Amino acid sequence: MNDQSLAQHLPNRPAPDARALAAIGKRLADTFGSLGLDERLSAACAAVPGRLVFTTSFGIEDQAISHAIFAQDLAVEVVTFDTGRLFPETHQVWAETEQRYGRRIRALLPERRGVEAWVARHGIDGFRASVEARLGCCGLRKVEPLGRALEGASAWVTGVRAEQSADRAMMSFAAIDAQHRLLKLNPLLDWTRDRVMTFVRDHRIPYNSLHDRGFLSIGCAPCTRALAPGEPERAGRWWWEQEEKKECGLHLAKEPNEPKELNGLSGPSSSVPAHPK
Ligand code: SF4
Repeated sequence: MNDQSLAQHLPNRPAPDARALAAIGKRLADTFGSLGLDERLSAACAAVPGRLVFTTSFGIEDQAISHAIFAQDLAVEVVTFDTGRLFPETHQVWAETEQRYGRRIRALLPERRGVEAWVARHGIDGFRASVEARLGCCGLRKVEPLGRALEGASAWVTGVRAEQSADRAMMSFAAIDAQHRLLKLNPLLDWTRDRVMTFVRDHRIPYNSLHDRGFLSIGCAPCTRALAPGEPERAGRWWWEQEEKKECGLHLAKEPNEPKELNGLSGPSSSVPAHPK
């Protein structure tokens, strides 16, 4: 494999200030509706100064975005969180993706001490005991590494789609993420699952074999199950919890404590069309 260093692909440019990022985000959001996935990502790269980070969990949406980044050789850092509880199939598609594109995907692992202390207190599968315990586990294994991944970045690219949940339907193509103080870009927001599947098949993109066995949204193995026909996409994640609690803390529909300098700039931007294409 051509193991190119990430540094070769990343621009060494300073991040713009928050107001400038918000203005860039608004312009991008206004144009995304008329662009394909490749164009959306290349437009984002051209418009956003500084570091762009894409976080992948190797789900079908993330594979489509990885393809668009790698095939165009875009200066976007691709990062994943190896939580320690992933499916073997996820590691398999991770390796296949690196092999296919000749690019290394940056892996962030949780801080060892925090995980050891959590497991000592709650037990290895203690996340089932309460929402608080589960959020603690997700906080250690996903949210804290996310903070490290996004440190100093100007923009965060995600595979969120509006039809995945009511919370996600409220998100925009581009909006300021006040928590991480950067621009959050959701270039697949208006895509249906069928459209993503077609894109992946047409481009022969490697995908997680669990998708062929009824898994729609794939996270950690003990917290993900296959779906019965007709069940909503997120029903297979933390199925023992109430629907409204089912996010891991990576994607918040509403931004808490928006900094003063961003008031009025973060949204709603050009949201999803009423009838996704
Ligand atoms: Fe822990 Fe489950 Fe969250 Fe993974 S999805 S970090 S195992 S609670």
